[in-house]
Amino acid sequence: MVNNLYIVTPRGFCAGVEMAIKALTWMLKIYDETIYCYHEIVHNDWIVQKFKNKNVKFIESPEDLPSGSVLMLSAHGTAPKIEKSFNDISAIQVNAVCPLVTKVHHEAKKFTESGKQIIYVGHKNHDEATGALGVAPNSMHLVEKKEDLKNINITGGEVALLAQTTLAMSEWEPIMESAKNIYPNLDMPRKSDLCYATTNRQEAVINVSPLVDVVIVVGSDTSSNTKALVATVKNLGKESYRINSTEEIEALNLTGKNVAVTAGASAPDHIVQEIIDRLNPTKTEYFENTNETEYFPLPKQLRSDITSLSNFLLEVFPENNIDPEKSVNKDKNWTATEALSSL
Ligand code: SF4
Repeated sequence: MVNNLYIVTPRGFCAGVEMAIKALTWMLKIYDETIYCYHEIVHNDWIVQKFKNKNVKFIESPEDLPSGSVLMLSAHGTAPKIEKSFNDISAIQVNAVCPLVTKVHHEAKKFTESGKQIIYVGHKNHDEATGALGVAPNSMHLVEKKEDLKNINITGGEVALLAQTTLAMSEWEPIMESAKNIYPNLDMPRKSDLCYATTNRQEAVINVSPLVDVVIVVGSDTSSNTKALVATVKNLGKESYRINSTEEIEALNLTGKNVAVTAGASAPDHIVQEIIDRLNPTKTEYFENTNETEYFPLPKQLRSDITSLSNFLLEVFPENNIDPEKSVNKDKNWTATEALSSL
């Protein structure tokens, strides 16, 4: 049994993950066939397995897509060349990229078109980094740590700095400061590439840390923002562990400790709740750092498909009084947790 338990807000699903999960759920409901998804729709093992059980096949290359299939592109963003290849093969293609990842793609395009070389701070082989670097492969240079800045091949010309949206502020800031010293005219986007969900969750664990001995972060090993939360706490000299299920609690030896629980942006609510129940605290408090209200609408193609389907149903079954506008707009009142429960 733990002593005081602080349940941190915000935690868990961000607006981009909400949108992507709901979009794939809509796809399963609209198209009665296998849905292919490029990359894991979000980086969470439980969610990926849930969709696999419902006839979603996750693929890693256009070569894996049968011709004429229905395809969804994941929340992490897809390199333009790959997207084009998929376009040539798929019958229907819906892009569930998070708008905040699209923002980074636009910046990469804009800086490249203005003749700048781009330093991109991110994690090698992470789906988001792979997609972003594919926007301008000849002018983008991946940097994972500040020491890498010495090894990139930029000679002369103007330089810009971009980042993966889910970095820990503690890994991003030293690289940004070093890059500014090396390139005094360094160009950067006016608004940080680290997304609101990443920074809000990190600020919350920074603020709760003085109250506790340990911070538990719920999420999968593949989730960059989850690992960034653990790194943020450890950077403060506090204990932090990433866990994915109740079975992992026992080994952490938390008896009598004050504990905070948070979750990465792709961790489902019910797993967080099971972990909270299993911790069985003497006292529970809610630690609300920020209230998030962001909502990202479904991808345009999907909105159009849902409206067309509703129009068709209205024509065939007028007695059902379907309002096509309402069926799309109702999405705002439907949570990803409810979407997953409906499968
Ligand atoms: S973590 Fe940020 S960038 Fe990634 S899906 Fe969520 S809101 Fe979008």
